[in-house]
Amino acid sequence: TAEAGRDFIRDIVQADLSSKKHSRIVTRFPPEPNGYLHIGHAKSIALNFGIAQEFGGKCHLRFDDTNPTKEEQEYIDSIQADVRWLGYDWGTDLYYASDYFDRLYDWAEGLIKAGYAYVDDQSQEEIRASRGTLTEPGKNSPFRDRTVEENLDLFRRMKAGEFPNGTRVLRAKIDMAAGNINLRDPVLYRILHAEHPRTGTKWSIYPSYDYAHGQSDAIEGITHSICTLEFEDHRPLYEWLLDKLPVPSKPRQYEFARLNLTYTLLSKRVLTQLVRDGHVSGWDDPRMPTIAGLKRRGVPPAAVREFVKRIGVAKANSVVDVGMLEFCIREHLNKTAQRRMAVLRPLKVVIENYPEGQVEELEAVNHPDDPAAGTRKISFGRELYIERDDFMENPPKKFFRLSPGNEVRLRYAYFVKCTGVIKNDAGEVVELRCTYDPATKGGNAPDGRKVKATMHWLSARDSVSAEIRVYNQLFSNPSPSAADFAADLNPESLEVLPEARIEPSVAADNSGEVMQFERQGYFVRDKDSAPGKPVFNRTIGLRDTFAK
Ligand code: ATP
Ligand code: MG
Ligand code: MG
Repeated sequence: TAEAGRDFIRDIVQADLSSKKHSRIVTRFPPEPNGYLHIGHAKSIALNFGIAQEFGGKCHLRFDDTNPTKEEQEYIDSIQADVRWLGYDWGTDLYYASDYFDRLYDWAEGLIKAGYAYVDDQSQEEIRASRGTLTEPGKNSPFRDRTVEENLDLFRRMKAGEFPNGTRVLRAKIDMAAGNINLRDPVLYRILHAEHPRTGTKWSIYPSYDYAHGQSDAIEGITHSICTLEFEDHRPLYEWLLDKLPVPSKPRQYEFARLNLTYTLLSKRVLTQLVRDGHVSGWDDPRMPTIAGLKRRGVPPAAVREFVKRIGVAKANSVVDVGMLEFCIREHLNKTAQRRMAVLRPLKVVIENYPEGQVEELEAVNHPDDPAAGTRKISFGRELYIERDDFMENPPKKFFRLSPGNEVRLRYAYFVKCTGVIKNDAGEVVELRCTYDPATKGGNAPDGRKVKATMHWLSARDSVSAEIRVYNQLFSNPSPSAADFAADLNPESLEVLPEARIEPSVAADNSGEVMQFERQGYFVRDKDSAPGKPVFNRTIGLRDTFAK
């Protein structure tokens, strides 16, 4: 049993095993294949699969594919890939709610025969208007007292495809005055002439979420049906249906708080629109909070799992600081990522006293805390690139990096001193002249003099041009509006640096591993790379840079 990461749901599972209520627990992750998974889903995945692992049970992957107008095979495929990428495995337990359509239909006929369901000819608007409010009871439908024979006949004709979309529904006959609005004769089936990715055109009616979900749980022998808090009010209906139907098992539903993140919208409706309207390049745009986006950005799955573990599972909704996710990513990558040098915004430097044509190989450490990661050679020469930001012509008092007359250390190389500045007609600095001190090779002066800054650099000759994409928050508002999200988009969420320089070995690397570019952050090769034109994504910077 699990002690680490204990929460109220794990306590319930433990108690049910201890009391022998269940000998083996079965959970499920039930996505609707109408979009890509996001980090909120990762919380649900880690909870359901995690519990199954920790308590020796199993977790099903079940596609809740009951709304064919929004569902696509592309989403079914991406969801499986993303769950696997997160490190979870459903084994042979892959299911589809659509596999139960026949059984669900038969059970619905059973409800009709028992007087628990009726066909309603009211329009959607009429049904909504007669539902009542929290303070006012609903009104019975004029069709509520149809005979069993009439209901059966109409329901069968609905199934046969005789009626147009929206003209009739099957409703449970519960109580239009119930305090819980979900019990006011909820819709069980609607007419939908739509082709389904798996059942084709066989069905003209499709079950509602409430009708399909609990029964699918029961068919699969789910013991703990874990969902987010917005379904708490649906639990009485979940139980009513289980009670009235000849189901093979009685799962119990438990609710936990969904994940909300600052600067982020976790709604498939919004994410779909971001893709459709071209605000991002696709579902896997590295700015998206999707699993596919995180993956492309270079976020390791272990960092996502660690994040989900740290935030825990609670019964009250809250908003988690996205800085917490970033912290987990940084912490993981700091341990695992090899160090390299890259110059994001290059400024040319000519070392005037370094012999023309001479090249030296210097030794650089791949990971400061991991000697086993070894070293590599980087070449030094007369012409170098440094980071444009590391030079100031008229520096303020506390600027210790390069400026005219000032001396700094080039990492793994020498001390250099700036002796001249070359500008273009517009007055912009385009090149620096420096001298180096050959006695400081390796980074220390024999006479003991100190410098206050160590900078990264690359040889102009022995470095490779690359495009680097730096990402910032997709939204500039810490709590973006789901209704008017376009107004909250951050116009600076993507910064493209087309002239960056990288080590040749970085350009040649196809491992997909994230690297730390020293002093800049963590970077991973992007799928847009072409031969001779590598593209790198910044996974994350080295420090938390945005305001709290
Ligand atoms: P949306 O509301 O954005 O359309 P959804 O909740 O309908 O998403 P589903 O595919 O139905 O998406 O979700 C599958 C499972 O993931 C459900 O059990 C749901 O409760 C859970 N889930 C969805 N969003 C979150 C979230 N932000 N945090 C935790 N769990 C979530
Ligand atoms: Mg849903
Ligand atoms: Mg939802």
